[in-house]
Formats: sequence, C-alpha cells, structure tokens
Amino acid sequence: MPTVQFTCSDCTQTIEVNEEMRETILDTGCPVCTTPASEDDFEDE
Ligand SMILES: [Zn+2]
Repeated sequence: MPTVQFTCSDCTQTIEVNEEMRETILDTGCPVCTTPASEDDFEDE
C-alpha cells in the first residue's frame, strides 16, 4: 500500500501514513495535537 508523509503544520510532527490513516487525519486532525489537517500537509514520497 502506498504511503504518504504527513507533516503537521502546528506541532511539525512528521508521520508516515497509508491512505486509510490519511483519511482519518483529514477527518479528525493531527494524531499528536489534534490540529485540523489539510491536503497540503500530505506529501507523496
Ligand atoms: Zn500536530
């Protein structure tokens, strides 16, 4: 499964996520600080 890199715009935590986790983060925000995430916070490797 392809992964993308999530970098939180607030706490700057970088996490490698799969598509399912990406959807979850877009839905619920950063797993670390719960700041809402946008498409721009994800980067294909
Ligand atoms: Zn964060």
